[in-house]
Amino acid sequence: MNGNAEHLFAKVALLGIGLIGSSVAHAMRRREVASYIAGYAPDADIVERARKIGFADSFSTSAEEAVRDADLVILAAPVGAFGEIAKKIGSKLKPGAIVSDVGSVKGTVLRDVAPHLPAGMHLVPAHPIAGTEQSGPEAGFAELFDGRWCILTPPASAQEQVIAKMKTFWERLGSQVEIMDAGHHDLVLAITSHLPHLIAYNIVGTANHLEQVTKGEVIKYSAGGFRDFTRIAASDPTMWRDVFLNNREAVLEMLGRFSEDLTDLQRAIRYGDGEFLFDLFTRTRAIRRGVVDAGQDSAAPNFGRNKPKRP
Ligand code: NAP
Repeated sequence: MNGNAEHLFAKVALLGIGLIGSSVAHAMRRREVASYIAGYAPDADIVERARKIGFADSFSTSAEEAVRDADLVILAAPVGAFGEIAKKIGSKLKPGAIVSDVGSVKGTVLRDVAPHLPAGMHLVPAHPIAGTEQSGPEAGFAELFDGRWCILTPPASAQEQVIAKMKTFWERLGSQVEIMDAGHHDLVLAITSHLPHLIAYNIVGTANHLEQVTKGEVIKYSAGGFRDFTRIAASDPTMWRDVFLNNREAVLEMLGRFSEDLTDLQRAIRYGDGEFLFDLFTRTRAIRRGVVDAGQDSAAPNFGRNKPKRP
């Protein structure tokens, strides 16, 4: 495929065209990133819905067809499906193609994808730290990655010029890029993303089990704080099941620490230790200010939906 010289890639294949895959496509079209975009999803109805929106040049229910002649292939499906997809496309890849992904867990990408890639392919996993609780091809928008971090976790064997090209790719999509070891990524994200989601799923589940409080009251008085948890707990069940199953060790480590700290809080409340509570809440308030000052959220909770300010 002949590409425009201004474009970074002649053809990019997106395997998965939900929130993240479609946002990558919209963001690519905003800048000169790809001459041709091919989208793939296994479900014919999803492909039809995506075709109507038209964020790619072609859509298919065949991953093999989508990756034909692609210079960059991005896995944008739930992490648990990566191994199966890589097995399907491995022998169909263009020689020298770059294979990347957007998965929320990085250690298992190297484990599940690398064995299916023939020699001469370049694997550079990536994780854009941006999202919303929405899913599907209608959920994507071009500004999703603006001002957000994207973490690349190349294996030690990755070539410098390939890493540099993927860095440029994400910068053109609006992100700031950081390079990190896959294991370290999984530990950092376990506390900054995976545990908060687990807590949200749990608290909403607990409220759902309360028999003395009616569902109507939970909804009516949700502005008291519960509302923001429900937004996170509305995140895609398949995606988050796969995140927890694929980042098990790091999540269990963070959950252990969280439980110990929760016990400290429980004790402080039981014994009326107001100083303990006040000190902790003062420190956490400062962390919130740091997040807003770093441009990683607005002062109002929005979980990435509102367009962020460029840093
Ligand atoms: P999504 O909106 O649910 O889209 C998932 C896409 O993957 C759909 O096109 C779906 O196609 C396809 N898919 C599902 N199962 C598949 C399978 N077994 N084989 C091939 N394709 C399959 O999810 P998303 O939020 O875009 O998440 C995609 C990836 O981005 C995940 O790995 C997630 O960890 C990562 N991520 C998500 C966020 C976020 O906030 N959502 C943020 C950063 C990274 P069908 O609809 O046809 O099944």
